[in-house]
Amino acid sequence: MKRLGVAWFSTGEMLREAVANGTPLGAKAQEYINQGRLVPDSVVLDLVDERLSQSEDRNGFLLDGFPRTIPQATGLDALLEARGLALDRVLLFRVPREIIIERVAGRRTCRDCGVIINVFLDFKGKTEACPQCGGELYQREDDREATIAARLEVYETQTKPLVAFYHDRHLLSEIDGVGSIEEVNERVLVALEAFGAGSA
Ligand code: AMP
Repeated sequence: MKRLGVAWFSTGEMLREAVANGTPLGAKAQEYINQGRLVPDSVVLDLVDERLSQSEDRNGFLLDGFPRTIPQATGLDALLEARGLALDRVLLFRVPREIIIERVAGRRTCRDCGVIINVFLDFKGKTEACPQCGGELYQREDDREATIAARLEVYETQTKPLVAFYHDRHLLSEIDGVGSIEEVNERVLVALEAFGAGSA
């Protein structure tokens, strides 16, 4: 985001925000999220539509965690077309299952400053307080081990078909997602810059 000067829209964040604010949409979404299931397409598409309409960012945006199904991808096409926009690139991160599980199971967020750390990878399992501000660290309900398997299954059945969908449209860049945050970030920038992103 900083290097390319683009906005960041994460449907997961939007949904967690709605849950935290106790909105009717949040109440509806919470059960799906906690079970590791996908929130219905129409709900997510409405959220993205609303966010794109509010956004004054003319420099572009990065969609994170969206689309996750074929109907969401075709719905996104319609939202973009209505605004005279098109996708520049779609990124696919390749990460082995056991590394995904380690990253998700170890993920903790600070209640006060919002920083995200991994207790296994960064602290060998030995931290209870936020390393940045001393705040309380918590684990997302859907990051618990029992839910991770459900989320991976949902990926296989509902999200994986998007790989062929975007590959066929020549929009897909595959990124090796194994490595440090800095290494993976660099690979993302190289992939995006190859297609002229950030040059506008
Ligand atoms: P994330 O923060 O992207 O890992 O998303 C957390 C949870 O929010 C997911 O497991 C889903 O329950 C829900 N969610 C986020 N994005 C979507 C989406 N595009 N479609 C359906 N559900 C979503």
